[in-house]
Amino acid sequence: MTALDIQYGFIFFLIASYILQLWLAQRHTKHILNHRAEVPEAFADKISLEAHQKAADYTIARNKFGTLELTFSSALLAIWTLGGGLQFLDEQLRAFNLSPVYTGVAVIISLSLISGLLDIPFSLYKAFVIEEKFGFNRLTLKMFISDMFKQTAIMLIIGIPFLAFILWLMDDASPYWWLYVWGSWFGFSMLMMWLYPTFIAPIFNKFTPLEEPELKNKISNLLQRCGFTSKGVFIMDGSKRSSHGNAYFTGFGSNKRIVFFDTLLNSLQHDEIEAVLAHELGHFKRNHIKKRIASMAAMSLAGLALLAWLIDQSFIYEGLGVTTPSFYMALILFMLVTPVLSIFFNPVFSLLSRKHEFEADEFAAQNTDANNLITALVKLYEENSNTLTPDPLYSSFYDSHPPAPVRIAHLANVRS
Ligand SMILES: [Zn+2]
Repeated sequence: MTALDIQYGFIFFLIASYILQLWLAQRHTKHILNHRAEVPEAFADKISLEAHQKAADYTIARNKFGTLELTFSSALLAIWTLGGGLQFLDEQLRAFNLSPVYTGVAVIISLSLISGLLDIPFSLYKAFVIEEKFGFNRLTLKMFISDMFKQTAIMLIIGIPFLAFILWLMDDASPYWWLYVWGSWFGFSMLMMWLYPTFIAPIFNKFTPLEEPELKNKISNLLQRCGFTSKGVFIMDGSKRSSHGNAYFTGFGSNKRIVFFDTLLNSLQHDEIEAVLAHELGHFKRNHIKKRIASMAAMSLAGLALLAWLIDQSFIYEGLGVTTPSFYMALILFMLVTPVLSIFFNPVFSLLSRKHEFEADEFAAQNTDANNLITALVKLYEENSNTLTPDPLYSSFYDSHPPAPVRIAHLANVRS
């Protein structure tokens, strides 16, 4: 293979992944428009036509904007690689004559800062135009700016030392560097997962322990019934940024937390909250979290083994617009180019995720009343303006959760 083969191959996959995503987005919009006039039969007595049409318009607006973002990011990727952007950035930073490890840190940090800056107009538009128009936005410009600074500060404080360590391992001549990098990366991810709920999340939101006696009682009964221990149930002030509601699990080991958005608590009955929590417990009890961590570990090991082979093939760098090969450029190119190829495996990951959602729903149906989860889901679909009529192909490609009608039919099935 030559540099030219790599270049043509990359152009082919970049265009193919772009066209595929564009085509799916267009199908999605068309399908939603075709079903906009009427609420699907199964929901006719639960959701108003007005709410159904709002969900359609909201989904289409986001979908259209997503296409614009996709176009921009694909063009940007071409500029960084084939357009010589990375090579140019590297040359500028090499001029400072730092050691290869520090030059690598400087290139990667500059690249993420530049990408972050270019992303600001998109984030602004999403929050202050789209979310605002549909009444979901609660962010102020001041909060937007302060969030951005906090995120950047955290990235720099945690990212720089870790990155320097990884590049130092890569720079080492050991043939097993990729195994060391994998071990460090895995340990770091676990540490971050463990630290996140107690140290990082509170920088952005306030978490207050759930106090309401009746609900608290209901929840601790459920936890006991399912044999689950955690560091407690917390309410997060999600309403300060958005009126979208959610519930999630965070941390692991002894540092597990259950988090409810305040917006969710305000819109659901106690029985429904219990059912939503039972679903989240289902993910834990069916070992979905362990499975996810294991597959993440396996994929990153395979990725690093591949990188270890690619790192010595100078024609690959050249084919991707980098004329001065280095270990940090190999890492950057790998991170930038992999998504263009991995997008084709998306349906497989989405399928596995949806399988887990069904299992968690089954767990909830076994441990609480499935009817409560159904009414909770209908309320959440309505309040979050999730469309009830996604394009089936689009949905099977991207959706981590089954579409509303399928999910509710499944719940109604396990209930009886
Ligand atoms: Zn779930």
